[in-house]
Amino acid sequence: MSRFSLDGSRAFVTGANTGIGQAIAVDLARHGCHVIAVGRSAMDATLAAVRQAGGRADPLRADLATAAGAQDAFAAALTRFGPIDTLVNNAGIIRRADSIELTETDWDAVMDINLKTVFFLSQAFARARFAAGTGGSIVNIASLLSFQGGIRVAAYAASKSGIAGLTRTLSNEWSTMGITVNAVAPGYVVTANTEALRADPSRSRAILERIPIGRWAIPEDIAGAVTFLASPAARYVTGITLPVDGGWLGR
Ligand code: NAP
Repeated sequence: MSRFSLDGSRAFVTGANTGIGQAIAVDLARHGCHVIAVGRSAMDATLAAVRQAGGRADPLRADLATAAGAQDAFAAALTRFGPIDTLVNNAGIIRRADSIELTETDWDAVMDINLKTVFFLSQAFARARFAAGTGGSIVNIASLLSFQGGIRVAAYAASKSGIAGLTRTLSNEWSTMGITVNAVAPGYVVTANTEALRADPSRSRAILERIPIGRWAIPEDIAGAVTFLASPAARYVTGITLPVDGGWLGR
C-alpha cells in the first residue's frame, strides 16, 4: 500500500461544510479516509463532493463556539462511528476591526473557536488515542498570521500565533506517545474568510503582487498538505507549521 494512502483510517474534520475544510474533507476521502464532516451548517455539498470523488463521509452537527459543544461532538463521533485516527482543526472565524475599537465580544468569539476549542478537541482526541493505546495525527489550520502581524485582525493574529505555539507544545508532549501534531498555514485563499479583502481593490491588488506564484490560492491548494501530514508518509514530521502560501513568506 502507498505510504500516502489513508485506507482504513477515519478523520474528524471541523468546519467541513465549505471553503478549506470542505476541500480537506474531499481530499482525505479521495485518499481512502472515512471523514466525519463536523460543523454547524448542512454538509450536503461536502457529502456530494466526497461521493463524487468515490469516498465516504458522514455529517455531524456541532457548534464549536464552546469547548463543551466540541467535546460532546467528539464523544458522539466516537460512539457513532468508532475510533478516530486524525483530527483536523479547521473551523475558524475572523473579525476585522481597528485594534483601537475591537470589542471584547469579538475578541472572545475568535479566541474561543480558533484556539480554545482547538485545544480541548485535541485533548479529547489524545485521551481517546491513549485509552486505546494507539497513535494518530492532529493537523491544525494556522495562517500566515501565525508568523506575521497583519492589520486590523488583532484577535485573529493572536489566535493563529497561539496555534503555532500550541502545535509545538502538544507535539512535545504527545509525539512520544505516537501522536504527531502539526499545522498547515494557508496563504491567501478564495473563501468566505477573505471576502472583505477581495472586495477592497487596492488591498486585493497589493496582496496579489506579493504572491510569487502569481495568484490567490483555492481551497484545493491547501488540502494536499493536510492529507500528507495525516498520512504514514509524514510519520517523522511533528511540531511544524507548514506554510502553503504560494511563496508569500519567502518575500
Ligand atoms: P470559511 O469559508 O469562512 O470557513 C470557516 C469554517 O469554520 C466554516 O465551515 C464555518 O462554518 C466554520 N465555523 C465557524 N464558526 C463555527 C462554529 N461556531 N461552529 C462550527 N463551525 C464553525 O473560511 P476558510 O477560509 O475556509 O477557513 C478555514 C480555516 O482556514 C480557518 O481556520 C481560517 O482561519 C483558516 N485560514 C483561511 C485563510 C484564507 O485565506 N481563507 C488563510 C489562512 C487560514 P459555517 O459555514 O457554518 O459558518
